[in-house]
Amino acid sequence: MPGDARRPLALLVALALAWSLLLWDRGARAEAPATESGADESIDHVVDVARVATPTRDEAPESALAEGEPTAIGAADPSDDVAGVEAEGPTPRPQPTDALAHLDIGGHRIEPGTKQRIVLHASESFVGASVETPVVIIRGRNPGPTLCLTAGIHGDELNGTETVRRVLARITPDDLDGTLVGMPIVNVHGFRSRTRYLPDRRDLNRHFPGSPYGSSASRIAYAIFEGVIRHCDALIDFHSGSFHRSNLPQVRGDFTSTDILELARGLGVNVAVHHPGITGTLRREATTHRIPTVLYEGGESLRLQGPEIQRGENGVLRLLRYIGMLNVPYEFEERDQEFFFDSTWVRVNHGGIFVPSVKLGDRVEVDTVLATVFDPLGGERAVVRAPVAGRVIGMAMPQVVIPGFAAFHLGDRNAPRPPPGETLPEVADLEHTE
Ligand SMILES: [Zn+2]
Repeated sequence: MPGDARRPLALLVALALAWSLLLWDRGARAEAPATESGADESIDHVVDVARVATPTRDEAPESALAEGEPTAIGAADPSDDVAGVEAEGPTPRPQPTDALAHLDIGGHRIEPGTKQRIVLHASESFVGASVETPVVIIRGRNPGPTLCLTAGIHGDELNGTETVRRVLARITPDDLDGTLVGMPIVNVHGFRSRTRYLPDRRDLNRHFPGSPYGSSASRIAYAIFEGVIRHCDALIDFHSGSFHRSNLPQVRGDFTSTDILELARGLGVNVAVHHPGITGTLRREATTHRIPTVLYEGGESLRLQGPEIQRGENGVLRLLRYIGMLNVPYEFEERDQEFFFDSTWVRVNHGGIFVPSVKLGDRVEVDTVLATVFDPLGGERAVVRAPVAGRVIGMAMPQVVIPGFAAFHLGDRNAPRPPPGETLPEVADLEHTE
């Protein structure tokens, strides 16, 4: 067990718990006692979140993870050359509020020691039927952070949906200190039609945090953000490669934030890619709202890939243990993590048949041949070479292509680490990266 690695964060969580114990004690006396079985899988409520008022994070921070306090976490671990961020001194802790004892998600009271399934009324079908987004909430008997898992924002990315389902099926309230919230199918429209998009061809993951008066994508995003996301102290959003591309399992986040860096370390994914996030994505907007968020990428869309799913499930369990939320033993191995602080897309300049000559995860040097493009009626037209040294973290499957097609995503091993706390730049969409 990597106890040394967990100790600083465990200390932080312990501080958070100590902070909340008085409140918990008061709240526990006021609330009904936790049920013995702790499991209630039935659908309890249909919630129209447009009518539900939720406190903003600025008004009611709920845990240390939400506080941005883990500035000392990385610095406390001298063996870590990535998380070695200077501690910035203690942050004033806000006064506790009743939000910890009385947890309401989507307008539904979540009691300690329960596992509940609720649905958000996030949209309607063409015939006016409610399109219900399922949410599973597992609240432990003891206080702690609220970790949220989202998947299926792109309806055709199934690995994440199955990963979240497995985690939710496995965890019971007795296993937890704190609360685990799972949304395995955020984009129900897309999931039903097995497409990335919404019925109006909009990408839901470009419309957060949304608006109750905007496009359908914006309204769905708003319902989800207000109904669930604002309650999260940290968030993992699961994705897969799009349009016949596959991604090496990787975690992406804004690693100028020590909180987010810790999430990446807790997940234990071998490859971590710094990226501030595209404007309008759930990851970017949740981060902007002071909810530390990382994106977990793995595999291809429209497939259920066993190793990728298992890796994701292990990663979440590892993270739960790492941040002190999982109170049952879970053995995991230390893994080397390779951080890339920049990445680049490599495009083909000729149309034809694209045949890659490297694999996901391969390490490449400048000018390494990555692929060949063949004339459909003749021989070789061109080779595609690596512009930077690094690693293949995403790539297209063999297919026919036209000039400009983005064929490879390379982690740049020579990119310098950005300074901590750097202001996030605006980032435009690039090849549907997430
Ligand atoms: Zn996606």
